[in-house]
Amino acid sequence: MTQSNDPTHAFAAEWLAGLLDAIHRNLEPAEQGRLFEGCALVHYRMAGMDEIVARYAGDGTGGRPIVLLAHMDVVAAKREDWTRDPFTLVEENGYFFGRGTSDIKGDLALIAATFIRLKAEGFVPTRDLIIAFSGDEETDMATTRSLVGKHRALLRDPEFALNADGGVGVLDETTGEAAVYYVQGAEKLYATYELNVRNPGGHSSEPRLDNAIYQLADALKAVEAYHFPAMWNDWTIGSFRASGAVTPGALGEAMKRFAANPRDEAAANVLYENPSYVGLTRTTCIPTRLTAGHADNALPQSATATVNCRIFPGVGFEPVRAALAHVVGEGVEVRLTDEGTPSEASPMREDVMTAVANAVHASYPGTPIVPQMAAYATDGSVFRGAGIPTYGVSGVFIKDSESFSHGLNERVPVRSFYNGLTHWYVLIKQLAGR
Ligand SMILES: [Zn+2]
Repeated sequence: MTQSNDPTHAFAAEWLAGLLDAIHRNLEPAEQGRLFEGCALVHYRMAGMDEIVARYAGDGTGGRPIVLLAHMDVVAAKREDWTRDPFTLVEENGYFFGRGTSDIKGDLALIAATFIRLKAEGFVPTRDLIIAFSGDEETDMATTRSLVGKHRALLRDPEFALNADGGVGVLDETTGEAAVYYVQGAEKLYATYELNVRNPGGHSSEPRLDNAIYQLADALKAVEAYHFPAMWNDWTIGSFRASGAVTPGALGEAMKRFAANPRDEAAANVLYENPSYVGLTRTTCIPTRLTAGHADNALPQSATATVNCRIFPGVGFEPVRAALAHVVGEGVEVRLTDEGTPSEASPMREDVMTAVANAVHASYPGTPIVPQMAAYATDGSVFRGAGIPTYGVSGVFIKDSESFSHGLNERVPVRSFYNGLTHWYVLIKQLAGR
């Protein structure tokens, strides 16, 4: 994994910690003792990196705490490839440019600003609000694993988490108006397997009947022919129901039929043929690399294929390995070489869905709220894996064509960013207010 080269990373955590500390020191200096209880700030060095945990104490009448989750790190950015300095925030033509503006320092700033605003207004939440800003989401997620593991007491047995690094509002490509808002309640599991065939080899002038490359090629054709069984959850069904209503032709029909009856194999097969939707219907495994042989004039002694899988939530690594091993047959070794964090889909909660709808509609009235399962994985998978239901509810709206997370010239529309302040404010007041 590539480490971030963000020169601001070193002081981002310091700065945020200072900011959150200042919230209660400056606003209520007379109440230092009570305030430490009220907004305790813990600036932990977990896994050798910074993770900020800040608690905004509630009166407890509203139930168990809510965690607000975001990450302080960003994906590396090459200065020379960018039009502007990726690590200096630039406002230009109605956009904020900079690495992390959309993934996910923008939402992180919105959450911090919302805490400041609520505190200034004297808001007392009905339940604890706990900020958890992690330090290495884009690489190892070690800080988050450490938080839900060794330092779990800091989270005070939360009921669920709201993840800034998931969910998104989409702006229409032509009009720029809000088109749809996705709430993310599940993430697929990342896994890489290696298929390996060994052979005694020999001189290529005396070919054997068994050949490692032929055998591996046959194994890969078998993987190609195999379809993992169709699966579904509330998030994928909700997602197909919504997209089916607005997608024309056979594809839209298939979405509607699958949403109505996910056992409809014909519908599932239509979706299987579409790269954007196949992953929402099942586990997928696809070869991504090949290596074999050691000399032009020698029979191959080994042949290896890398197969990358995106596993449906709720299914573990071993059943997928076993399925692959069964499909490729004897003589092909299948082993897991890289793995994400297993997590179940989170239950769809009425209170969260309603609060998100109100938060979105405060700035974008009438926008459809659509459930989503993501093909990528965030800190949310670590939380879900630790048994904490997690909902991706970013406050930012952006056009698909302008979404450059992890890419060049990352940006966020200025108007959309400021609407994000309303988003988090409404969301928190709904879920932790009276
Ligand atoms: Zn992110």
